[in-house]
Amino acid sequence: MRQFQFGYRGRDQFLQELRKIRQWSKTKILSRMVFQVFTETPDRDEVEGILKLIEQELPEALVFGCSTNGHIINGNLSQRMIAVTCTVFEYPTSRVQIRQYDLNQENEAEVTSSILKVLEENPWVSAIELLVTIRGMSMTGFSDQLREARRDIAIFGGGAFNADMNEDTACVFSNVAGYSEHGVVFLLMGGSDIHVETTYITGWKPLGRELEITKVSGNVLYEIEKRPAYETYYRYLNIENDENFFGNTLEFPFIFDHNGIQLLRAPTASLDNGALMMTSDMYEGDRARIAYGDPETILREVADGVKKLSHFAPDVIKIYSCGARRMFWGQEVSRETAPFQLVAPTSGFFTSGEFLRTKGHLNQHNVTLVVGAIREGEAMDTGEPPELSEVGMEFSGQVSMVKRLATFIQAATNELEAANRKLEHAAISDGMTRLYNRMEIQRRITERVNESNQAAEKGESPLPVALVMMDVDDFKKVNDTYGHSEGDQVLIRLAEMLKRTIDRQAPGCLAGRWGGEEFMVLMAGCNVEQAENLAEIFRQEFNKIRFDLCGQQTMSLGVTELLPGEDADVCCRRVDDALYKAKKSGKNCVIRE
Ligand code: GH3
Ligand code: MG
Ligand code: MG
Repeated sequence: MRQFQFGYRGRDQFLQELRKIRQWSKTKILSRMVFQVFTETPDRDEVEGILKLIEQELPEALVFGCSTNGHIINGNLSQRMIAVTCTVFEYPTSRVQIRQYDLNQENEAEVTSSILKVLEENPWVSAIELLVTIRGMSMTGFSDQLREARRDIAIFGGGAFNADMNEDTACVFSNVAGYSEHGVVFLLMGGSDIHVETTYITGWKPLGRELEITKVSGNVLYEIEKRPAYETYYRYLNIENDENFFGNTLEFPFIFDHNGIQLLRAPTASLDNGALMMTSDMYEGDRARIAYGDPETILREVADGVKKLSHFAPDVIKIYSCGARRMFWGQEVSRETAPFQLVAPTSGFFTSGEFLRTKGHLNQHNVTLVVGAIREGEAMDTGEPPELSEVGMEFSGQVSMVKRLATFIQAATNELEAANRKLEHAAISDGMTRLYNRMEIQRRITERVNESNQAAEKGESPLPVALVMMDVDDFKKVNDTYGHSEGDQVLIRLAEMLKRTIDRQAPGCLAGRWGGEEFMVLMAGCNVEQAENLAEIFRQEFNKIRFDLCGQQTMSLGVTELLPGEDADVCCRRVDDALYKAKKSGKNCVIRE
């Protein structure tokens, strides 16, 4: 595999480049030639002119491309509005094919089912590179459906963009179906000698506390922690809702785990109602943090990525990097792309969204650098991977102030979160026995009972709910005879016995301290017979305990189960009655109501 890369310097120069390639190709028995064209302006005439020239000089070549927010040639940001790469697949076994779909004519479900069919009919395909116009469109359905593709097919690519980030117009094109402002192009690659490795780099690090995404519709993020989403940016970063909002927030995207992969999402606009338009879809229930970009972390991740790829020994490297990263680095953006050139000719562009299949899922990333590395044939021995210094990334001993402050904030946040978890735990548990306290066990019972009743109302079969309530017999005597601390020991060891027995015999059941020497066990999913059996085990196990001073003790237990339609209080009263009856009938027994 071989690659030519060059900036477009006008028609005549371009023709010369094409003729050079044609000259060179005459000496080869070629398998296939694929041109990729990057253009900062989605100008139809310009694109069609380029397609025509290639067609004229190299009619057998495939051509695809898209508009970009800047492109990468030989590892560096290209200085030209248009740049071109020509990849030559040299092995006779290698196959390439382009498929293009017009999203005005077909919806995404039709496109994905069509491409899935193509993949089924072409078992040689082992990798897909995709270019798509995504601005303002939800790609979740598209990504979800494409995961049906054979698991061994690598998928990577990017969203077409515009030199002006605030411009919505973008295009994709190919010499198969021409220019499109609303379309998707797939480059299918495969054959027994094609090998592909992919990876991704963020380098953005979480900052501050975890925030729950409470209301989302596609890429409109309405609420975070039940408050208008915009407030998060105002409160934590003091970012005003003005014309600079996009630029200001781009450096502080949200970071969260989804499908086991770390994703980033940046806001693109803030709406009057406080909702945020995000770079792509977010998902309710996910927990996100604000993230910040740190050059040193980014470069270290790049160095790791470069090392990893150098073992793979690719012939060419493709980079799909977010436009936000270009903005973040400014003039220095090549610092994170140039190191890849040490491994193989590196080209690519700045995207409106990056696609990468990981663990079967096709994820849409943002603010991320996705890398696809392609090789034909076996890996040559490449020797030692390039060293950090060769990659041009020696770090000075001086750590930036921003980084130190960010570390400080994260450390303080982690401490606060740990303290909060402790407080939350303290608020629901009983200090002495470490079981749930009365309020919490009562809340859990009510919750389960309501769920069960709601299921019944919907005509579903409701989960049974049983309760066991118990009270130590003649406990006053223990206190009066041996003192309060012996009494406390009885309660503590009773609670330990309850936990241990539940762990072994009925995991999922919950025990709480109802008050004084009374305890309640909530058995969701159990009927009264099962509850009675467990109560009997509790009774026997308690009686087996030998206390230092007061020896053996007994307790009485009541058991019941939820009857259709009744509320939690009624059920609790009945189990209390059962316990009362157990006391009346001589204690140290289980009574079921
Ligand atoms: P019965 O068999 O009818 O249940 O008799 P009892 O003596 O166990 O019942 P009673 O309700 O008369 O007494 C309960 C006692 O439990 C009274 C109270 O001082 C004691 N108690 C409540 N909470 C605690 C505690 O946390 N520690 C200790 N040591 N005693 C407690
Ligand atoms: Mg008692
Ligand atoms: Mg009592």
